[in-house]
Amino acid sequence: MGLLTAEALPVSLRDSGHLLDDRDAGLATAAVALSQWRRTHRCCPRCGTRTELVESGWAARCDVDGHVVYPRTDPAVIMAVHDGAGRLLLARSVAWPQRRRSVLAGFVEAGESPESAVRREVAEEVGVRIGRVEYAGSQPWPFPASLMLGYHAWAVDSAAVAALRPDGEEITHADWFTREELRVALAEDRVRLPMQTSIALALIESWYGETLPSAP
Ligand SMILES: [Zn+2]
Repeated sequence: MGLLTAEALPVSLRDSGHLLDDRDAGLATAAVALSQWRRTHRCCPRCGTRTELVESGWAARCDVDGHVVYPRTDPAVIMAVHDGAGRLLLARSVAWPQRRRSVLAGFVEAGESPESAVRREVAEEVGVRIGRVEYAGSQPWPFPASLMLGYHAWAVDSAAVAALRPDGEEITHADWFTREELRVALAEDRVRLPMQTSIALALIESWYGETLPSAP
């Protein structure tokens, strides 16, 4: 990596991740995760004393009581929901641009398995009851400290498919798409997909069967 010069401009990992190879993306992701952690967790959770970095910055220790704290990682699930007949669920979160559609996601709660989180989040956000759940892969997402666990999930039956209703609070739109419907919606610019480096797009593409245009 080059030194920062007068001509160089800082860019976020979100904006530049797709330009990096696997090694550099891994290094940059670890650096962002550690710096986010250190910025927000400076003091001992037991006694409030300022901690000192140890283990080359991968942990911090309190000199008063010896307590060692490690970077926090918050597990989250992200799931491609299938209707069992070739269609995929794409939804719009309330904070997104009008045409953005993606798969559902949410945080794993304390004491909860990721598979239970998949079923709970889908039921809460769009009212669909999930049966089978299969792990698909993961992605560190240090904004600020998430680890995204990707899944494919299937509606339990046709009644569950028909029950699709966005909750109106977190999710404003939710629809089942055939591959052909998504192809046409993208061509007509009625739908825009998540960014290139995201596991969200990878999940959608694994259903679609080929690469798709990502958000600009
Ligand atoms: Zn302490």
